[in-house]
Amino acid sequence: MTNTTTDLTRATAAQLADLLAAGQVSSVEVTQAHLDRTTAVDEQVHAYLHVAGQSALAEAAEIDRRRAAGEPLHRLAGVPIAVKDVMTTVGMPTTCGSKMLEGWIPPYDATVVAQIKAAGLPILGKVNMDEFAMGSSTEHSAYGPTRNPWDLERIPGGSGGGSSAVVASFQAPLATGTDTGGSIRQPAAVTGSVGTKPTYGGVSRYGLVALASSLDQAGPCARTVLDTALLHEVMGGHDPRDSTSIDAPVPAVVEAAQRADIKGMKIGIVKELTGEGYQAGVSARFEESLQLLVDAGAEIVEVSCPNFRYALAAYYLILPSEASSNLAKFDAMRYGLRVPPTGIDHPSAEQVMAASRDAGFGDEVKRRIILGTYALSSGYYDAYYGTAQKVRRLIANDFDRAFETADVLVSPTAPTTAFRLGEQLDDPMAMYLNDVATIPANLAGVPGMSLPSGLADEDGLPTGLQILAPAMQDQSLYSVGAALEAALTDRWGGPLLDRAPDLTAKGA
Ligand code: GLN
Repeated sequence: MTNTTTDLTRATAAQLADLLAAGQVSSVEVTQAHLDRTTAVDEQVHAYLHVAGQSALAEAAEIDRRRAAGEPLHRLAGVPIAVKDVMTTVGMPTTCGSKMLEGWIPPYDATVVAQIKAAGLPILGKVNMDEFAMGSSTEHSAYGPTRNPWDLERIPGGSGGGSSAVVASFQAPLATGTDTGGSIRQPAAVTGSVGTKPTYGGVSRYGLVALASSLDQAGPCARTVLDTALLHEVMGGHDPRDSTSIDAPVPAVVEAAQRADIKGMKIGIVKELTGEGYQAGVSARFEESLQLLVDAGAEIVEVSCPNFRYALAAYYLILPSEASSNLAKFDAMRYGLRVPPTGIDHPSAEQVMAASRDAGFGDEVKRRIILGTYALSSGYYDAYYGTAQKVRRLIANDFDRAFETADVLVSPTAPTTAFRLGEQLDDPMAMYLNDVATIPANLAGVPGMSLPSGLADEDGLPTGLQILAPAMQDQSLYSVGAALEAALTDRWGGPLLDRAPDLTAKGA
């Protein structure tokens, strides 16, 4: 590989790590190459809310210095990364895509951010997201939408559209994401990138601005299965500051991604997550991928998870309930936006809160706060929240039964390829349906991955395959993902993202 800017941004994190370890490039060069790429293309993509060029280069120089001094370093040391703006970062704004937190600079790092810093990955900046992680398109960001690098008139998925677009447009080899109902996996699917939602409790939630605490899980975004595993390993592990953190070692995800061995593995197709409602090209690529898995030595079985059909309904009671409670802290008193109500000389605290929340929250956030407050109100609690929790148990039981016959489950990640900006913005139900296949995993706490399965014939846009595994078996996602990725890359003659349009070409 020659040492040019273009080559460095095209390299995977694993390749960059090798180049850095061999002394063929410096972290400053790698980091600068990605910052240059951002200068060249992010006006079109709008993945970043905040670019931290100076501090990233300073971190890179420090890693280069430590490497030159012969210090033992993490494998990914010196490989730059972008961070979703839902994670707190000392000295860097954290807005959560909301006007409510505009200008807020947190006094502490999220545990995942601290782990990334400890491993020596320079942080390039903070990337865009739907406000408070509510949405499937990034159009609910108060700072304007991010665009899909495959087609700038289309959405990059959500809520983590900044994370998917930043890796898919080669502005960063790695990004962090969070997945409450699909916000890592669906963006990965529609941008031709890879993303994992780890087992609930496998990655610390400390320092993530909470959406729905019983569903939220941070995870890795990248362009290859191995890179995703490498970042998963950095982010994962026990954290005493998160009461639901699992006290066990991170599953052996890197080893699984490197071995890619699925001989004799039983792969279950979830009947309820295929067929009707899925775009033809999405289903066609899914079916082809199944054949490749068989060729690689796996056995395909069909499983039924009848209660998955209630997953979306249960999710849209549980999520708003928890969100309305979590977002109550944005009260204009302790931090965040404060807007005095107009026309009132001596407003009460309550009037200031009302005016600030009205100005600070967007429509989708307000919709969910209202829904959640209603679902939790006395008299309705049992009928709505209580019933949804029972459905959640039934969905977990469906998973348990399915995993008696299959080692992992598969489905298309999302029902369609990327839709056009604006197309679903006024139709919340249509927007919610994008997560029909990803939500069951969050309700049950099991891990899931999305990786590219090809381009749909109708529109030439990427589509993803989802893999789901039993809790704490995250490594199985990587065995299957790496085996499929190897077969598909072979078939394509190179990575799928090589076929995305060149954003620096005129008129792109
Ligand atoms: N799109 C889903 C929602 O709007 C998922 C969000 C997420 O995973 N953060 O709730």
